[in-house]
Amino acid sequence: MNRTSGGDGGASLAAGETPLGTSLVRALRLRCPRCGARGILESWFDLAAECPRCGLETDRGEEGHFLGAMLLSLVAVELLAAGLAALTIVLAWPAVPWTAITLGGVVLAVGMPVAIYPYSRLLWLGVDLHIRPEVD
Ligand SMILES: [Zn+2]
Repeated sequence: MNRTSGGDGGASLAAGETPLGTSLVRALRLRCPRCGARGILESWFDLAAECPRCGLETDRGEEGHFLGAMLLSLVAVELLAAGLAALTIVLAWPAVPWTAITLGGVVLAVGMPVAIYPYSRLLWLGVDLHIRPEVD
């Protein structure tokens, strides 16, 4: 594994030495949670096998590793859908647009997981990097 100086101003850090907040901000910028380098995404739906700069392996060697990413995505979608529905009901009361709320819920349920997919994977990778700094 090649560990060189980090991107976006980060210093040279070994696995697990990057502060969690920094890892999460890097993940939200769609960069490597450990070093901040670009290029960890091959496409919107695929992570590279490893970071092109620091060599962080995105497959953490554990089956079901990305269940955590799926959980993050699910919670984000549920909170957003419930919050928007509640806000719409409160603002529109008593003439609540139930059909629009129902259709909007369906659109959110389908579209949001796709829209936030790489974010949830990289956020989970950043969290996992702190839980398990090194994997075999
Ligand atoms: Zn990296």
